[in-house]
Amino acid sequence: MSSSTQKITPETRVLIIGAGPTGLGAGLRLMELGHTNFRVVDRHPYMGGLAASFTDEAGFTWDIGGHVMFSHYDYYDQLFTRFMGEEFSLNDRESWVRMFDRWVPYPFQNNIRYLPKQAAYECLSGLIKAQTGQGKIKSHKDATNFGEFIDAVFGEGIAAHFMRPYNFKVWAHPPEMMNKEWIGERVAVLDIDRALKNVVLESDDFGWGPNNQFKYPLKGGTGEFYRRMGDELGAHLVLGTTVTAIDVDKKTVTYDDGTSEGYDILISAMPLDVLYRDVLVGDVPDALRARATELKHSSGYMVGVGIKRTCPSTKSWMYFPEDNCPFYRVTYLSNYSPFMTPDMSGKNEEYYSLLCEVSESAHKPVDGEMVLEETIAGLENAGLLEPGERADICNTWVYRAEYAYPTPSVDRDEILSDLVPWLEAREIYSRGRFGMWKYEVANTDHTLMQGVELVNRLLLGEAETTIGIVYQATEDGREAAVHERPGHAGSGEKRLAGQVVEGKATPTPAK
Ligand SMILES: Cc1cc2nc3c(=O)[nH]c(=O)nc-3n(C[C@H](O)[C@H](O)[C@H](O)COP(=O)(O)OP(=O)(O)OC[C@H]3O[C@@H](n4cnc5c(N)ncnc54)[C@H](O)[C@@H]3O)c2cc1C
Repeated sequence: MSSSTQKITPETRVLIIGAGPTGLGAGLRLMELGHTNFRVVDRHPYMGGLAASFTDEAGFTWDIGGHVMFSHYDYYDQLFTRFMGEEFSLNDRESWVRMFDRWVPYPFQNNIRYLPKQAAYECLSGLIKAQTGQGKIKSHKDATNFGEFIDAVFGEGIAAHFMRPYNFKVWAHPPEMMNKEWIGERVAVLDIDRALKNVVLESDDFGWGPNNQFKYPLKGGTGEFYRRMGDELGAHLVLGTTVTAIDVDKKTVTYDDGTSEGYDILISAMPLDVLYRDVLVGDVPDALRARATELKHSSGYMVGVGIKRTCPSTKSWMYFPEDNCPFYRVTYLSNYSPFMTPDMSGKNEEYYSLLCEVSESAHKPVDGEMVLEETIAGLENAGLLEPGERADICNTWVYRAEYAYPTPSVDRDEILSDLVPWLEAREIYSRGRFGMWKYEVANTDHTLMQGVELVNRLLLGEAETTIGIVYQATEDGREAAVHERPGHAGSGEKRLAGQVVEGKATPTPAK
């Protein structure tokens, strides 16, 4: 078996596209390992990518969708401590589902007793049928897509009342277009005995508590962590510069100001489909360009509503499966830290803020002109804004992300296994939320670690684990990507028969 190590010498020029968590993680790791011949560029005038935060003119701070940090990595935790010190708040995860004009604690399936009796019966009955092989799909193993997986695991009642409508609102794609492998740790697979017990014994089964706390930067939102990381990169980081072309033959990059530079190794966190479609030049097979357009994604509107009232709730975030509101999730962002509103006294008494997320795709169009009004009306319908409270809205903020969720479509992994190795054979490493297109490893901790692990691979010869792809020599001596599912990454690929698994990378702690 050959090693995937790429020898990097001090002369090796590394270019990194994107100052989001992936690019910042890669840049920082290069610095830690003493490699200084690199540059990180971003088209935006700010750093953080989708993990950036913005403070509006009224003084409310907003994330691009409420960002909750659930780290899977010691390295990431140590970085957070290094850059944030004691400047964070520690919050209980308190999440709820809004349906039938009531609040149901999350996870939904453990709290069926909160539903009206008829719906509770339908959910339990469907669940029992599904789990005893009497459902539409006999077993989740028979499911060929996420829609069938929902039916097989949760049954028709939970599917109809929650799983199908909610997932369509989030993903903006029918669940039949999605694979079932992405689910990993994200969708709690149901324990039928627990569901029954909670209904019959009327027990509460909340998913929050001491083991579900999360840290959040005290000031400046999620993005503050990444701002500080970017500052550490100093002159290595160049903002407001767009990469317009990458010549794969000459190994050069062209920027929007017309200048070019050469690279030896390129790390890209831009969307993989955009990279192939608009940016790569030179000898790139048309078939691969076409293949890249088969990747699917959804866009998202983030609508912030700042209100001059005391926050009425201790909730963190809430899910909305019903069609009386356009959003799938709303976060009480001002509950994450006392410094998220114009009141910077730390008392958090005068204002509160709601951050609403609305998905969009060709399957689920959104009228951008109307999204703010529809969101406010939806907040009223869902009981989040009281009658008359509209008058106390003191500011609103709307942000549209063209690339919000990388859709784990049925054929995604086959597409990736065509696109990613071809680039790597040319020393272009596409990583990150839309660079690798794997939703299951696309949170901030995963993406930052994708950058870190890639550098560990290039400089130290360690295997990358988060992306779930390892490299092996095939019998004819080529290097080929094969897919592996590391336990912690939940990346969903099947282990190939007889496959040798490379050792887990152990990044050295940050200084
Ligand atoms: C609605 C929403 C909610 C989320 N919630 C959470 C959460 O609760 N917890 C969590 O951990 N994570 C969450 N995330 C995910 C988190 O934001 C991502 O993991 C992270 O931002 C991805 O980092 P990245 O560096 O891979 O990509 P990005 O953040 O997308 O960064 C890529 C960068 O590349 C730059 N770029 C693109 N093209 C070019 C070009 N041609 N030239 C130069 N620069 C270019 C972009 O400007 C961008 O800054 C959420 C994301 C969204 C959208």
